[in-house]
Amino acid sequence: MRVWVDQDLCTGDGLCEEIAPAVFRLLDDGLCYVVDAGEVLPGGGSEALASVTSTHEDAVREAAEECPGECIFLADDGAAEGGVGAGGGAAA
Ligand code: SF4
Repeated sequence: MRVWVDQDLCTGDGLCEEIAPAVFRLLDDGLCYVVDAGEVLPGGGSEALASVTSTHEDAVREAAEECPGECIFLADDGAAEGGVGAGGGAAA
């Protein structure tokens, strides 16, 4: 599974980081970015697609469902998958 965040919609509340701190990180700009293998992916958006290990998948799904900005998008490792947030948009 892979995940990305649309920073244009992020409210910066940090809920995702509380739920899945290994995968989401709030930076100095007040927005959330994804972490891949311990490194924050620069740039953000759908170009910054982090791999999610199986141990973190449940937490990432929960974060996507709880995200008030509906801006956490999940994708299969292969084909793209629609956003699973409550009303999340389609993954690019
Ligand atoms: S939960 Fe959603 S809106 Fe809140 S910081 Fe994370 S990505 Fe942004």
